[in-house]
Amino acid sequence: MLNVLLVGNGQCGNRILDAVNKHAMNRGSNVKEAGGGLSKYFSKHNYQSNVQTIAINTAINDLKEMKFTKAKDRIHIKNLHGVGANRNIGKEVFEQQKGNILKAIEDRGNFDVAFVVTSASGGTGSSFTPPLIEEIKKSHNFPVYALVILPFREEGTLYLQNAAFMLKELREGPCDGIILADNQYLKTIGGSVQEAYDGINSMIAKRLLFLLDSLDSEMMMVTDLGDFKTVMSGGAGLATIGYYKAENDMPIRTVIQNCLSPRGLLFSTDVYKEGGRAMIILKGDKKYLSMEEISNEVEKLSGAIGHVFKGVIVENGSMPEALCVLTLNSAEELESLYEGAIQAIGMEKDKKDRVRKKKEMESSFMTIDGMDPEY
Ligand code: GDP
Repeated sequence: MLNVLLVGNGQCGNRILDAVNKHAMNRGSNVKEAGGGLSKYFSKHNYQSNVQTIAINTAINDLKEMKFTKAKDRIHIKNLHGVGANRNIGKEVFEQQKGNILKAIEDRGNFDVAFVVTSASGGTGSSFTPPLIEEIKKSHNFPVYALVILPFREEGTLYLQNAAFMLKELREGPCDGIILADNQYLKTIGGSVQEAYDGINSMIAKRLLFLLDSLDSEMMMVTDLGDFKTVMSGGAGLATIGYYKAENDMPIRTVIQNCLSPRGLLFSTDVYKEGGRAMIILKGDKKYLSMEEISNEVEKLSGAIGHVFKGVIVENGSMPEALCVLTLNSAEELESLYEGAIQAIGMEKDKKDRVRKKKEMESSFMTIDGMDPEY
């Protein structure tokens, strides 16, 4: 059985972690209703592996908002005024308080793999995640992956520049790979912002659970952690995840195509152009899992990008579903985010210059304080 550490940093990371715990609760045969009513008090997390979850935040209210994560798994890092969206403050707070965080992780035992979930753009998660991964890697040799949520592009200059610096730090540090999910790309989910968040969080949570299951399945013909590590070490250190589940009878080739198409991915990319390595896992009733169709689709992808691992999990009576972990050799969408970030940094600089000039003006005014005009 795999030992998995799942950390959620900051508000976004906390909420996604909570969504993972919610879905892990709801899939047991003992729970009939999805997350509702009293089920959360009477059911337990139904993970296939030994999964330890830890939510970290400087904002106590974000931690209190969590509904499916045990109180002992929520760690409040005290800092009087939060960190705003200021990553410099966030990094200082992490440095002062990292002992508490690392102890909470050490207390859970040893792990085979860890995932740290966070937004790229806020204050706490974005500034805590790169040094946290660095600290974990100093004393452990299990792989640590970051699952990073990119901001809506209209959220403002501070968020954009935070995202750019945070990703740079992660790539330059010992993090074993970055899995990208993009709010901007996923916002077509629609509804209010909260509904969009809930929808996106649920998408990400289901994929993460599917991935964990497929790394720790005793069935034949499945992928394992070794395959995942090999996939994640390919490409430019960046990856994303595709997923699709059929709602009615559908050939498995169409399920795979949908999983790799824009509607299935968490980040905007052309799989066949930007893909590096991939791992595809198919699940469902045996009658849907035509080996010939699966092999044809996998060969199409491996012909374009290189190596593709495949795994098949038979689940009697289930509709077919597919999950793909794809590393990227290049990411055009990320390049345009960086262009936006450079503009954002320029705008913030201009604003500061204007404020400085205004202050100089004000001090000129003050030089005549106490004087009167002479005529
Ligand atoms: P922190 O608590 O200081 O780390 O900041 P947040 O995690 O709130 O970071 C702000 C960014 O996260 C913005 O780009 C938000 O759009 C995004 N965000 C906040 N909450 C959620 C959420 O529940 N789901 C998703 N997908 N994004 C979120």
